[in-house]
Amino acid sequence: MTRRRLALAVALVALAAAFFALDLGQYFRLEYFKSQQASIDAFHRDHPLEAAAIFFAIYVAVTALSVPGAAIMTVAGGAIFGLARGTLIISFASSIGATLAFLASRYVLRDAVRSRFGERLRAVDAGVKKDGAFYLFTLRLVPLVPFFAVNLVMGLTPLRTWTFYWVSQLGMLAGTVVYVNAGTQIAKIESLSGILSPGLVGAFVLLGVFPLAARASVEAFRARRVLAKWNRPARFDRNLVVIGAGSAGLVSAYIAAAVKASVTLVERHRMGGDCLNTGCVPSKALIRSARLLAQLRRAPEFGLKPAAAEFDFAEVMERVQRVVKAVEPHDSVQRYTALGVECLHGEARITSPWTVEVRTAEGTRTLATRAIVIAAGARPFVPPIPGLEEIGYLTSDTLWDLRELPRRLLVLGGGPIGSELAQCFARFGSSVTQVEMAPRLLMREDPEISERVMRQFRREGVDVRVGHEAKRFVREGGEKLLVCEHARAEVRLPFDAVLVAVGRIANTSGYGLEELGIPVTRSRTVETDACLQTLYPNIYACGDVAGPYQFTHTAAHQAWYAAVNALFGDFRKFRADYSVIPWATFTDPEVARVGLNETEARERGIAYEVTTWDIGELDRAIADGEAHGVVKVLTAPGSDRILGATIASEHAGDLIIEYISAMKHGIGLNRILGTIHIYPTLAEANKYAAGEWKRNHAPRRVLKWLERYHAWRRG
Ligand SMILES: Cc1cc2nc3c(=O)[nH]c(=O)nc-3n(C[C@H](O)[C@H](O)[C@H](O)COP(=O)(O)OP(=O)(O)OC[C@H]3O[C@@H](n4cnc5c(N)ncnc54)[C@H](O)[C@@H]3O)c2cc1C
Repeated sequence: MTRRRLALAVALVALAAAFFALDLGQYFRLEYFKSQQASIDAFHRDHPLEAAAIFFAIYVAVTALSVPGAAIMTVAGGAIFGLARGTLIISFASSIGATLAFLASRYVLRDAVRSRFGERLRAVDAGVKKDGAFYLFTLRLVPLVPFFAVNLVMGLTPLRTWTFYWVSQLGMLAGTVVYVNAGTQIAKIESLSGILSPGLVGAFVLLGVFPLAARASVEAFRARRVLAKWNRPARFDRNLVVIGAGSAGLVSAYIAAAVKASVTLVERHRMGGDCLNTGCVPSKALIRSARLLAQLRRAPEFGLKPAAAEFDFAEVMERVQRVVKAVEPHDSVQRYTALGVECLHGEARITSPWTVEVRTAEGTRTLATRAIVIAAGARPFVPPIPGLEEIGYLTSDTLWDLRELPRRLLVLGGGPIGSELAQCFARFGSSVTQVEMAPRLLMREDPEISERVMRQFRREGVDVRVGHEAKRFVREGGEKLLVCEHARAEVRLPFDAVLVAVGRIANTSGYGLEELGIPVTRSRTVETDACLQTLYPNIYACGDVAGPYQFTHTAAHQAWYAAVNALFGDFRKFRADYSVIPWATFTDPEVARVGLNETEARERGIAYEVTTWDIGELDRAIADGEAHGVVKVLTAPGSDRILGATIASEHAGDLIIEYISAMKHGIGLNRILGTIHIYPTLAEANKYAAGEWKRNHAPRRVLKWLERYHAWRRG
């Protein structure tokens, strides 16, 4: 906290403390006012303006300092100034006082609160940005929430000051009139509870419910408007149609079937989508073979004679397909049919908010459904680089058909997919050049984490070209070349095959979104709200098609919300929870993360402390010949609360689970340290990182005293 802030905080606390210490509260009691009413009235009669000004100033001070007294002053205002003038004076005084309290809270407390709870407040911030005025209005209308609490809490949010002021004034008006009016009847009122009779409170609650009801009506109106031009079927054959049988679609259908809804899952290509057929499963199978090869080459390090495995790349790729086949039953039509899902193989197209047309080999069918979940996934993005189409390219969709190892492979893209595959092909013996426009690979991770991966890549012979912008592809003298720009100079990189891995783009066209007018976002994913609902109240989207993440586990996570909201949204809708999102990149070393890293914490202005622990020191890592890597944990300053963790090491994707659980369930580093970890395992690295944090936060003074105590005991 800066000095100025501290000074203001001290001054405010001192004033409030003085109020209580001097028992000034006695002057803000109904009995006191009644006892003084005659002289106050006389002063008001002789000096009406001064009386109004003094009253106004005291009112503002009481509310700004958040000390008790505003309610009684409102009643007194009615008694002194009458209904019209009293309401006018108090309406402005209370709004100005409330705004001062709001500003004080914002100035003194907000940064401290944000630095401590910044990450958790993100959802609150988003809600306040969208609906803040609305919620404030409701809170003001219902005088059950203490006035001062609303002022102070709202100061911590990003609500604009002007919005706070005018919404407060408007929202409090009804309550002010009631209290001031009560004041005009002061002779009859014996206590404040007289004003807050159960009947009156009921009326206020009704007033408070009004905005909520108004909002529900607005939503219903909006829904009716978008649905108005469509003919609603008289009855529905099913509760839910899911478009796409990838990770998101499969889980959506599974949940619907589990709650006994009638659900149809439509897939135009292969059950399992990208993850099973062209994504996670084949890539991890390929990585396994490449890794074994790399380990064999290190045989002498393990006390073995030099070894080299002979292999045929085509057989490696056949094994990849065998792995896919082995996993296939988990996502198969047979399994899902047995679970109660109707599986259709065909191309789905949404023809109205309640109908989906499916083109199958047998013909076209139209399904009438109450709700739809769009889980149409994404595809590799192919950038419009001149010459690329002519020269021909591979993507993560087509790569799996390769049976011959490219002699020179150019990998375009330094993200997770490009990096995993670049290392893989280098290990098989391709001469790999990896081109990335950004200054480093894995740009989402902290620089030193990327650096570790790049160092390893270079050690393994990958020609990593960061800061290289691909300009055009050309063919010269029978050779394929990529022309790049690097440090304002032209660089020409020869290759035999190019793998384009510069990102993935959502599938948003060709199945009815345009016809229904369902908008897409700037990042070209289907636009949804926090509950994954599209423009239409009964159409939801999840997985890669909806973003913002592109992982199998996030697709499955979103699918729960999409399916549940699609089926039960008329009663209650759930907002997708993105508070703890983990991921891993399966390079060697693996890089796994959950929550914030340093770069993001800095960008978002969130205060943090970093603890790092070198896995090179871990017994098990040494025994395994993998003594490298790091655990990096971000915690809130002065606390063991975990803001995020990154692990770069062997099996980082497994090791990170402990931090994911800890963050999800609010467990801090102290409790990780207090948990027995099996010796010798890589997982001990998490405990040692927690121990490192503990050492850095040891109570030095207490230890100094303990040292003296022990010295004294020794005599
Ligand atoms: C090489 C690679 C490696 C990856 N590795 C990992 C990893 O290790 N871990 C991880 O978490 N993620 C990984 N991913 C990402 C992961 O595969 C995706 O995030 C996940 O598959 C998304 O699932 P989805 O259901 O949203 O989409 P998809 O799996 O793409 O499924 C969408 C399905 O919808 C179908 N479809 C589309 N339109 C229609 C229509 N009109 N009618 C009928 N069907 C339609 C498609 O045919 C497709 O089968 C990887 C991706 C790639 C490419």
